[in-house]
Amino acid sequence: MATIKRIAMVTGGMGGLGEAICIKLAKLGNTVVTTYSPSNTKVQKWLKAMNEQGYHFYAYPCDVTDFESCQACIRKMTEDLGPVDVLVNNAGITRDMTFKKMDKINWDAVMHANLDSCFNMTKQVCDGMMDRGWGRVINISSVNGQKGAFGQTNYSAAKAGMHGFTKALALEVARKGVTVNTISPGYIGTSMVMAIPKEVLDSKIIPQIPMGRLGKPEEVAGLVAYLASEEAAFVTGANIAINGGQHMQ
Ligand code: NDP
Repeated sequence: MATIKRIAMVTGGMGGLGEAICIKLAKLGNTVVTTYSPSNTKVQKWLKAMNEQGYHFYAYPCDVTDFESCQACIRKMTEDLGPVDVLVNNAGITRDMTFKKMDKINWDAVMHANLDSCFNMTKQVCDGMMDRGWGRVINISSVNGQKGAFGQTNYSAAKAGMHGFTKALALEVARKGVTVNTISPGYIGTSMVMAIPKEVLDSKIIPQIPMGRLGKPEEVAGLVAYLASEEAAFVTGANIAINGGQHMQ
């Protein structure tokens, strides 16, 4: 895959999927920057561990639910490193419970972290991408935004909303060399999925996946790398499933 060195910002890059995305984009020669929650105390340890593996990542504190925090983060990193060419809106959370038990706090938390975050981060970089005539916005949604999931009215709504955002923005920026796409992973073996009780994974989730296994973070990272590449210039407004055949549209 031919790659020109770009500056890539991956939100939540210290998480299971985010780390694999950071590594893949770095291997392709990009300068990789990630965000971490201001409350995260593991960042120096993570940066050191990555350094020991040969990856030099940059990390900035940012609460993706907070517009001003995103503004400050992008302003500082742009001063330090230059403007963002590739934005991967990857940070996200789950707060699963049936609708009967769903309270406003857990509804709002999931909407803010998964959906508002796309506005909060993309708003900081989109005009610059258009001015420079090149940009990639990649939104990490979920299979459960496509098909719905029991106990996830909040998450399914937020993740479905991300793709509405993708399609509308893709239309607005298409002539400016900026593409906007959604990736909808199925169940990937990260801590978010490993938090599901093993008996539920074995009895309810794996049997729904025709490939009979969880996805690997590296498999999602490869798709991100493609969408970030020059070759993907004609792909925009797409919602690309990567789910082992669990859900086909
Ligand atoms: P993790 O829980 O491992 O990582 C989530 C990341 O999001 C963390 O790095 C966390 O940072 C960051 N984050 C959460 N809230 C905030 C916030 N308010 N501000 C800044 N950063 C925040 O999850 P995964 O790697 O598994 O998931 C990554 C993305 O992929 C999510 O959007 C998820 O919904 C999606 N996805 C995952 C699937 C899976 O099977 N794993 C399937 C489908 C979609 P910190 O630790 O610093 O708080």
